[in-house]
Amino acid sequence: MAKIYEIVKYGTPVLREKAEPVAEVTDEIRALARDMFATMHAANGVGLAAEQVGKRIALCVVQIPVEYDVEEEGGPRLNRDDLLRLALVNPRIVETSARTWKMSEGCLSFPDITGSVERPWAITLEFTDLHGKPRREQLQGFLARACQHEIDHLQGVVFIDRMSYARRLALKGRLRRLKDNTEADAQP
Ligand SMILES: [Zn+2]
Repeated sequence: MAKIYEIVKYGTPVLREKAEPVAEVTDEIRALARDMFATMHAANGVGLAAEQVGKRIALCVVQIPVEYDVEEEGGPRLNRDDLLRLALVNPRIVETSARTWKMSEGCLSFPDITGSVERPWAITLEFTDLHGKPRREQLQGFLARACQHEIDHLQGVVFIDRMSYARRLALKGRLRRLKDNTEADAQP
């Protein structure tokens, strides 16, 4: 049975920390990835980084529905089927496309907060898979966006950092309340 973790919220210090690289893909890492997929699905998310379950390690999971894997106006599929569910160990973006696009994003650590984020349309990603095998893949569209959002988490970067100043200003009150609530919950 998979374990469902509590997802930490904005204001928890681990969300601002850099993840430690994974030295070896062990059964423990595979079990954590499985539990992170289960936690993400239970929360109706499309991605989750280990920091969001309180673990400062370079592991994130992404799974997007097949209907999201097209251009905004429809058309052919963008990525191979097997890439729509990814567990990324020590992921690194090694190339980004000049083409960028904006889309409203959410984050499981920021309930009810959304904002437009501009990101490259396509990325080349290097990572280790759960078999311990080094991989290099090119991703595009929503899948590339979800991976960029999760890889940001591993650097201690969250999506509000990438929003416009105007949007951050508009969210200021809500962000402060969320942070205050998180800090109040953390009191013994
Ligand atoms: Zn997030």
